[in-house]
Amino acid sequence: MKLLPKECNFLEIEQKWQREWEEMGVYRFEWNDESRPVFTIDTPPPYPSGDFHMGNALNHAYFDILARYKRMRGYNVLFPQGFDCHGLPTEVETEEHYNIKKTDLTPEEFTKLCNQFVDKYINIMRTAIKRLGCSIDWTTEYQTRNPDYWRKTQLSFIILHKKGYLYQGNHPINWCPRCETAIADAEVEHTPQQGQIHHIRFQLENGHTVTIATTRPELLSACVAVAVHPDDQRYGKYVGKNIQVPTTNRTVKIITDDLVDPQFGTGIVMICTYGDKADVKCVKSRKLPVIMSIDEAGRMTKNTGKYAGMTVQEAKNAILTDLKNEGLLEKSEPLQQEVGQCWRCHTPIEILERKQWFMKTRKLTPKVEKTANEITWYPDYMKARLIDWARSLDWDWVISRQRVFATPIPIWYCRKCGAIILAEEEWIPIDPRNEPPKLDKCPKCGSKEFTPETDVLDTWFDSSITCSVHAGWPDREDWQKRFPADVHPSGTDIIRTWAYYLMVRNLALFDETPYNSCLINGMVLGTDGRMMHKSLGNYVATPEVFGKYGADAPRQWAAAGGTTGSDIPFRWPDVEYGWRFQMKLWNAARFASLVLKDYTPQQEPQLQLLDRWLLSKLERATVIVTAALEKCQFNTAIEEVRNLTWHQLCDEYIEAVKHRLYNPQTYGEEKRKAAQYTLYTAIYRILQLLAPITPHITEELHQRMYAEDKKDKSIHTAPWPEPDEAIIDEEAEKYGDLAIAVVGEIRREKAERNMPLNTQIKTLTIHAGSKKSAHILNQALEDIEGTCKIAEITVLPTKDKGREVREYPNVRFITEY
Ligand SMILES: [Zn+2]
Ligand SMILES: [Zn+2]
Repeated sequence: MKLLPKECNFLEIEQKWQREWEEMGVYRFEWNDESRPVFTIDTPPPYPSGDFHMGNALNHAYFDILARYKRMRGYNVLFPQGFDCHGLPTEVETEEHYNIKKTDLTPEEFTKLCNQFVDKYINIMRTAIKRLGCSIDWTTEYQTRNPDYWRKTQLSFIILHKKGYLYQGNHPINWCPRCETAIADAEVEHTPQQGQIHHIRFQLENGHTVTIATTRPELLSACVAVAVHPDDQRYGKYVGKNIQVPTTNRTVKIITDDLVDPQFGTGIVMICTYGDKADVKCVKSRKLPVIMSIDEAGRMTKNTGKYAGMTVQEAKNAILTDLKNEGLLEKSEPLQQEVGQCWRCHTPIEILERKQWFMKTRKLTPKVEKTANEITWYPDYMKARLIDWARSLDWDWVISRQRVFATPIPIWYCRKCGAIILAEEEWIPIDPRNEPPKLDKCPKCGSKEFTPETDVLDTWFDSSITCSVHAGWPDREDWQKRFPADVHPSGTDIIRTWAYYLMVRNLALFDETPYNSCLINGMVLGTDGRMMHKSLGNYVATPEVFGKYGADAPRQWAAAGGTTGSDIPFRWPDVEYGWRFQMKLWNAARFASLVLKDYTPQQEPQLQLLDRWLLSKLERATVIVTAALEKCQFNTAIEEVRNLTWHQLCDEYIEAVKHRLYNPQTYGEEKRKAAQYTLYTAIYRILQLLAPITPHITEELHQRMYAEDKKDKSIHTAPWPEPDEAIIDEEAEKYGDLAIAVVGEIRREKAERNMPLNTQIKTLTIHAGSKKSAHILNQALEDIEGTCKIAEITVLPTKDKGREVREYPNVRFITEY
C-alpha cells in the first residue's frame, strides 16, 4: 500500500471525484438490466428559483444517501433529476424585472423572457446539486417547459378528460388579483393579521335597526342575505324579515345558517358573494343570487355603483366614510384575523366566479386515504398530514390558470356551437394559442372556426406525473416495471401539494399509487433556530458552505441533524465537527498506510483479543448502520460510524497496537500481521459504511488504499458489507472493553502526574478482583504492557487497594515508576 500524503485538500478531491464519477458513468441507470432489482427515487424537480439553500441541500443529501446505499446493496438505482420550470414566480420576476405586465407582450415574447431566467437559474441549481455530490444519472434530466414534457402533461390531460375526471365550470375559486389568476387551495397561505371589525347599522322594514359586524364593508354591495344561528334567541324574531343593505337600495332576507358563530361580532352576519368559504356554502345551499362586486384585477365592478373602478382598499375607505356620514357606522375595533393570501405575492385573495377547468379530486379522497394507509411513511405519523389535507378539501382542484408561462391546455371551442374539441394524442405537444385543431370542421355542427383555450395548466399538473415519467411513461413499453416509485421524498411543506397531487393524479390515471413509500424531511431552520429567511439574517446559502467546507461535512450535518420529518437548525459547529471528523479519518488512514506498506491481503491470521474486539464492534456497527439506513434513520447511521471511528479505532485500538506494529522483533511477526489485518479490514469497513454519507473522502481513500486489491472501480459500486450477527463476538467485546479501560486508566494516571505517555513504568500490579477478570486481562497482557510501556506486569485475582478503573470498580492497580 502506498503512503498517503500528510494532508488532504478535501475541496479539491471532491470536485475531482464529481468530474470523474460523471466520466466513469458510475451512476447510470441501466434501463435494460434484468439481473439486478430496480430501486426508483421520485426525485423532486426543484423550482428554478436560482437559490439552492441549505434546505434543498438537506433534502438532496437524504435522497442521495439512500440512492448510494441502495446501489451498494445491489440495486439498479434510478435517481433522475428534472426541473419544474413553469409558474408564477418566474412570471412575477419577469414582470418586475422588465416592468411589464403579462398582457403587454404576446405569449411567445413573454415566454421567451421567462425562459431566460429559467436558463440562468437551472444552471445555478444544477451546479449546486452536483457540488453536493449527488449521484444523479444526468442523462435522465428533463425540464417541464420542454415540448417533450408538454406532450406528457397534455397526454395526461387527454386521458383524464376521456375518463371523465375533468370538467369545466363556473364555480367560486381562489383568485389572486395581483397575479390575475385562479389559484388552488394549496396555494393559499393563511396568515394572522391585525385588521378592523366595523359595526354597521342595518335598518329593518319596521324601522328598527340591528348592528352587523364585518371586516369587509366593501362587500356590502355583494350582500345577498343576512344570517343568524338558528338557536340564537336574540334574533329569532327577525328571521324571514327583510332588511335594508346600507349604501345600496336593496333589501335582503334574514335567514338562519348553522355556520354562523353566535360569538363572532354581534352574532348576525352578512352573506356576501363572496367573503369566505362559508358564504360559498350558504349561497349554494340556499340558491342565493350571486353579485360580483370585485373584478379579476381587484377593482370594484359596476355592480357597486359609485364605488366602481376603485381598488378594494379605496372602496373600503370610501364606504366607511359614507357610513359614518349617514350615522350608520356604530364603531370600528381592532381585530386579529386570519387572511388568505397568494402564496407567491402575498396579496389577499378574493373568491371569484369565473369559468375554470377542474379535476374531480374530492371523489378520490376515500381512495387517497386507503392508499396512504397502505404505503410506508418515514416517519409514520406524517401520513396523517396527507389524509387530513385530503379530507379538508371543500372544492375540487382548479387546474386552469390565467397565466402565460405554462403548459397549454389542449382544448379548442367551436365558435358556432361551442363544442369542446379535445386534442388527439397524435397532435401533442400542441399550443392551441398558436395552432388550430387538426380538424377540417367541427364534428358537431360542421363549422370551420375555432377559438383556442387561452388558459394554461397549473404547474402542479406538470409535476404530479413525475413518478410515471421517471419510470419511462408513456414511451417505454415496460415503464410499469419501474412504477410505482420505491420512494417519494417530500418536505413537510409540500405534502399537501406535491405528495397529494401525485397521489390523486396517478390514482385517476392508472388506478395505482404513484409511490410505495414517502420519505419526509423536515425544514431547515436558521442559525438562530427560527425559520431560515433572508430577511431574518439567519440565512445560509450553499455556496458559502461548499466554499468553506465542501460537501461531505455539510452532508454529515444533514445526516446527523435529526430523524426524518423533524425540523433541524443549520449550525456551523455541526459542519465543523464533520470537517474535523474527516481529518481524523484521514489521519487514521494515513497511519494505516504507513504501517501497511508491506501488507498484502491474506487469510485471517491468529488474532489477539483486541483485534477480535475491534472486528466484533465493527460487525455490530454494520448491523446497526444497515438497519438504520433501511429505515432512513440517517442520524443513527452517521453517529454509529463516527463514534466507532473516533473512539474505538483511533483513540483506543490504534494506540493499543502500535507496539506490535512497530516492534515485531519484540512481539513477533504474527502479532504484527494480526494488527495489520485488523487495521486493513477495519478501515475498509468504515469506508463502506460511510460511503453513502461522505462519498468523496471515502472514494479518495478507497482509490488510494484498496482499489487495487478490491477490483471495484469505485467504492460506490462496491458491495455493501452483508451484516452478519453471527460474527459478533460478545465475549471478545466485553473482555476487550475491560482491557481498554485498564489502558485508559493508566494513561489518565500519567496525564494527571504530568508524565509523557511513553514514560516507562517499572512495575504494574493489577488486582483484577476475580479469577475471571484476571484470566481476561492475561489475554491482553502484551497489548497493555506494550501500550503503556511497562517493564514488569503482574495480574492477580485479588481484591486490594489501588487506583480504581472507571466502570470496573473491582479492578484496581498499583504502579511504580
Ligand atoms: Zn399573487
Ligand atoms: Zn360546432
